[in-house]
This record gives sequence, structure tokens and C-alpha cells, in this order.
Amino acid sequence: MSAPKKLFIKTYGCQMNVYDSERMAEALGGEGYVETKSPDDADMILLNTCHIREKAAEKVYSELGRFKGLKADKPDLKIGVAGCVAQAEGEEIMRRQPLVDLVVGPQSYHRLPEMEAKARTGEKVLDTDFPEEDKFEKLKNRPKAKRGPTAFLTVQEGCDKFCAFCVVPYTRGAEVSRPADRILREARDLVERGVREITLLGQNVNAYHGAGPNGDMTLAQLIWELDKVDGLERIRFTTSHPNDMQDDLIEAHGACAKLMPYLHLPVQAGSDKILKRMNRAHTAESYIRLIERIRAARPDILISGDFIVGFPEETEEDFQATMDLVEEVKYGTAYSFKYSTRPGTPAAERAQVDPAAADDRLQRLQALLTQQQREVQDSMVGREVGVLFEKAGRLPGQMVGKSDYLHAVHVADCDRNIGDLARVRIVSSGPNSLAGELIG
Ligand code: SAM
Ligand code: SF4
Repeated sequence: MSAPKKLFIKTYGCQMNVYDSERMAEALGGEGYVETKSPDDADMILLNTCHIREKAAEKVYSELGRFKGLKADKPDLKIGVAGCVAQAEGEEIMRRQPLVDLVVGPQSYHRLPEMEAKARTGEKVLDTDFPEEDKFEKLKNRPKAKRGPTAFLTVQEGCDKFCAFCVVPYTRGAEVSRPADRILREARDLVERGVREITLLGQNVNAYHGAGPNGDMTLAQLIWELDKVDGLERIRFTTSHPNDMQDDLIEAHGACAKLMPYLHLPVQAGSDKILKRMNRAHTAESYIRLIERIRAARPDILISGDFIVGFPEETEEDFQATMDLVEEVKYGTAYSFKYSTRPGTPAAERAQVDPAAADDRLQRLQALLTQQQREVQDSMVGREVGVLFEKAGRLPGQMVGKSDYLHAVHVADCDRNIGDLARVRIVSSGPNSLAGELIG
């Protein structure tokens, strides 16, 4: 028997890319590939890329440049680019970097085995179609190998919202939801393989409207179906849009014990003028009222968000409105970015903010968000939380897991195993994590 071929995948960007990389590895597993952690001994290198900000996209080209020597030493090495840069830049990638053999867009991953076979014959292959067939169905044969206690599961892809700054509607295409029975089958399969916590993924996950037995289902209905899966202990979902936060989902946060008290709900900005120019279709006020309703249903919920500063035409006054919104909401965690011009999006054509002013605003916003994050984390001390253990800690006898609120928690003298869920009392709060002790 010949030795298995080795596959090195490097993943950039969002959780959906992490999920997609797993599925691509599985698809190529069927062609005799095993994964390697080093590009040096790989027969195939795949970069699963992100196009959301300019820096993310440029990283791909510098990374590709580094593989030149490897390819010279090993002419049979095949190099592929997947993900949103592949979708957005297609042939341009092969022109800019001739050592690339294969370019595959996010909707064509099920065709990867065929593409790999063609690339092996020396052909350059490119597929950035948005095919009709269901790529997830074609990719469904996940091997039965045991896996860690947490997993991502994509339920919805693409976006029809067209925020003025964002490439996602162009790179991931129109919004599509997977049928519920396929998601449930995949979830049961993951649980059989050791998964205890599933994070449902979608660019607009709360716009989920996949086919169910009695017509389309909402995300909340899907969550209630997953709630019935024995052995699945925790459910999360990300990323949500404020306008798709329906009543039944808010109620589920109050009523479904498996649904974790954590919600990532990006707002982007606090100025109504900027929100309108961003095409967000919500106001600062409607967002704040929404958070109040969610907190009424689940008072301890931890709110997370995304922010963009320096969006075209943003004034200091507009930025202050973002700071005011943050003060009012109190975020447990957040992601904040300086606006990055993306060619082809409406905002790219508008008057850009002075980069030094944008840097300064980002620093001030991040200081406030870090302070809030710290306060929320510190407020956990003395509380009892659930912790799902994910790995051994660095100290002997120590285990590390995630709390219901997604904080990392270290537990000393811990006799539990990876995959165990335990009640833990939080005893102290450090720079990036909490320490706790087992109860009982
Ligand atoms: N669908 C989600 C939503 O509507 O909030 C967000 C998906 S996007 C992949 C993740 C985050 O990247 C956005 O929430 C936004 O804050 C940020 N982002 C997107 N385009 C950006 C750009 N051109 N410049 C800076 N940040 C950007
Ligand atoms: Fe991008 Fe999210 Fe807006 Fe869709 S809703 S365009 S993914 S930021």
C-alpha cells in the first residue's frame, strides 16, 4: 500500500471557514489524504482565505510567496486557494502567483476531489461557481472518527442584507438555509462522535428558514429540535443580525436550558446617520430596545458585538454616539475594526475618514470595550457556572473549559475528563480567564 498523501490546511477568518476546512479535509480524506500540521511535508497545501478586510486578503499573497521554495524542492506539491479571496479574486490569484494550481470558491467545495485529480495531471483548475446542487449533501460523509467536545455546524450561508461596507453577499452569495433534517442528522452524528456542544453557524444565522416537516422552520424551532437530541448538552449560534431577532428566538433564550446565555449581536455603529449609510436598517434606539427585551427574557445573558469605526463620513460626533451606545449596552466581549475599503462595495466610493482619526477612535473604543469586558468577567467571581472541559491545563491536575458565558475557566485538582460538564464556583478573575473550583 502506498503511503497516504498529506494535506496542510491553513484557515483564516471566521468560524464558517473553520467548519469549511474540516469538511474539505474530510472530502480529500476520501481521496487518501491525511492532515499534517506542517506545510513542509505536505503533498497539498490549501489556504482557506478571508476577504472581509484588506489586511486579511493581503496575508494570503505573502503566505503563498513563502511556499516558493517548497514547490521548487517538491514539484509534485499542489497549492490551492479556497474561501472568500478565491471567490472574489479568482483568476487574478493565478496571475499574481503562478505557483497556485487550484482555486476553489466556498460554494464548490464538494467538487474539490475532482479538482485535485485534475491538478495532479498538471492542469490549472478554477471553480468559483454558485452551483445549484447542495454542497453540504455532497460533502456529507463525515468519517466516524472521535472528536473533541465542541463543534461548529453551518445551518445557513450567504447574505441578502448588502451592508454598504461588506463583501459577504458577493463572496458567499445569496442567503440559503439548509433543510432541518440534514442539520439534525449531522448533529446526531457529531454527538455520537463525542461532541457535547454545537455552535450553529451562518452569516445571518437568525434569518434561518430551512425546510422542516411542516414548512420552513425558524432558528428557534430548529434549536428546540436540537434540544431533544440526547447527549447534546449545549447549543450556541452565531452571527445574528438585529433585524432578524424574532420573538420566538428571544423566548428560547429564556426557556431552553441547552441554549447558552451568550449572544453575539453586531451593531456596527451608534449613530443613526452612519447606520443608515451602512444600510443596516436598524437604529441605535431599536438595537438598545432589542437588547432590553433579550435581557428581560434572560437577565444574565452575555452580549457580544461587532463595531466598525472610521466608516466613510463618520464625524467625531457620530463616533461619540457609538461610545454612548457601548456605555448603555455594556458588552461582555466585542470585536472592533477600523473600516477597510473593499472594492466593489458601495462605501468604497465615498469620502474616506482620515486614517489617523480612525486609529485614534479605534483605540478609544477598544479601551472602553476592554474595560467592560473586564468588569463583566470580574462579576463572575463568586458565581456558580457550568463548565465544559476541553483540554488539560498547563499545570498538573488542571483542566480548562468554557463557561456557559464562553469565558475560559481553569480548574485545579480536577478529576474530570475532556467532554465532562461540571458545576464550578468561580474564585478569581485573571487577565484572560477565570479560575474556579468544582462544586460537590
Ligand atoms: N453578518 C454579520 C453582521 O451583520 O453583523 C457579520 C459578518 S462579518 C463576516 C464580521 C464583521 O466584520 C462585521 O460584523 C463587521 O464588523 C466586520 N466587517 C465587515 N466588513 C468590514 C469592512 N469593510 N471593514 C471593517 N470591518 C468589516
Ligand atoms: Fe455583511 Fe453581515 Fe451585513 Fe450581511 S448582514 S452584508 S454578512 S455585515
